Amino acid sequence: MVNRVLVAEFMHETNTFSVQVTDENAFRNSCYYLDNDIPGAFGGTRTSMGAAFEAAEKYGWSVVHPIVTSANPSGRVTDDFFDAVSERILNSCQGVDGVLLHLHGSMSTQTHDDGEGELLARIRSRVGPNIPIMAVLDLHATLTQKMAANANALISYRTYPHIDQYERTWQAAELLEKAMGGEISPKVAVSRRPILYALDGGRTTSPPMMELLSRGDRIEAAGQALVVSVQAGFSSADVQDIGPSIAVTANDLTSAQSIADELMDYVWEQRTFSSIHFTPLEQAIAKAKAGEGRADKPLVIADYSDNPGSGAYGDATRLLQAVLDADLQNVGFYAICDPEAALQAQAAGVGNSVTLMLGGKVDPSMGGGPIKVTAHVAALTDGSFIAYGPMGGGARRNYGLSALLRVGGVEIIVISHNGQATDLGQFTSLGVDPTRKSTIIVKSMQHFRAAFEPISREVIEVDTGALSTRNFLERPYKNIRRPIWPLDPL
Ligand SMILES: [Zn+2]
Repeated sequence: MVNRVLVAEFMHETNTFSVQVTDENAFRNSCYYLDNDIPGAFGGTRTSMGAAFEAAEKYGWSVVHPIVTSANPSGRVTDDFFDAVSERILNSCQGVDGVLLHLHGSMSTQTHDDGEGELLARIRSRVGPNIPIMAVLDLHATLTQKMAANANALISYRTYPHIDQYERTWQAAELLEKAMGGEISPKVAVSRRPILYALDGGRTTSPPMMELLSRGDRIEAAGQALVVSVQAGFSSADVQDIGPSIAVTANDLTSAQSIADELMDYVWEQRTFSSIHFTPLEQAIAKAKAGEGRADKPLVIADYSDNPGSGAYGDATRLLQAVLDADLQNVGFYAICDPEAALQAQAAGVGNSVTLMLGGKVDPSMGGGPIKVTAHVAALTDGSFIAYGPMGGGARRNYGLSALLRVGGVEIIVISHNGQATDLGQFTSLGVDPTRKSTIIVKSMQHFRAAFEPISREVIEVDTGALSTRNFLERPYKNIRRPIWPLDPL
């Protein structure tokens, strides 16, 4: 008998503090594939969908793949788009023997704080209680009881930077095959504590995550659970279920719950651990100045707070202003997301000079307002290229109309579709060789490390006070559960 499997991807990490609503256009501008376009885009890639298609071939599944879509982290997903994607998935559920999903786990819509819980509940009510539903999630998923209750397995990435989407989807596919064959009948238990932020933001190079992942390995190897999944959670969301969690997938829900609770005790014990050390902006600039004659390996300065990967606007200018004020030489800056400036550069044309107001337009109070620059337009592209780095997996990316603006010794990349720096192609596609720069500046918390740490002589992090500032204690949380550490004495 040939099993019919529904495969779909619908991903968004929602920063509920962002003023930018995430609509259909945002998804279409980022990643949006339907039906027959999907195998061609993802077959043979080391992506989640690449793994799903390989598994289908191995197990002889007949696959229905209605949609693969994701957008850069930003504000709440519109109800219209969420409902449209849900309907598209539900309409493909007819007669399926199993469901394999790639979700984020921290999506909030205008109506539903728990977007994935709502989606899984809709799918469950359509397919009924006996069809296995497996979901691969981001390590920064905000897990809820609703998600656990409506899935048969929840499997989060085990790497940050996230480079194991392919492996985790294979793991989900293997479980799905076993569940469809009646070998296993898994359920998911989830455990949380009153914690807003812990696990060093999910850094898998830090002791708390390393310890939990290795305990999870031992539990899985001993056959006590099918999957032990550790989620760091996502703190830029004003939602009830905020915070880190453990999800355990097993045939026996009671033992799964006790394993999850025990591991969560460790998360509580380790809640104060942090490896994040910010360099004051003036010191970062001084360090760059001292090394500006070098063209072998760059100093990499990462702006943690304007990380588009956590929903920041990617147009904050405080760091760029400091770089320009210091007249730093041989710098590559990625990026300012400013579609208006990109169009102005295009209108001026390559080889010409343009004067424009750059960046800081979405919310000037978050990391610096627009700055006036006169720049040489060095290159223009449509922003599309294939990302071959460890996080790219060989899939195409699209940052929209992009410009390379040269101001003194600083090469500034201006993009139209927001995104953090995770692949060298984000520089090289505009003709900038990052390995030859004295200083590379990226907006990213951790993901940049996969591609940029190996080419760097040193990495330092700064917090310029943009939307994703580490100073989250001042965020206007209203909907999170209280009391919660570290906001309340616990
Ligand atoms: Zn993540």
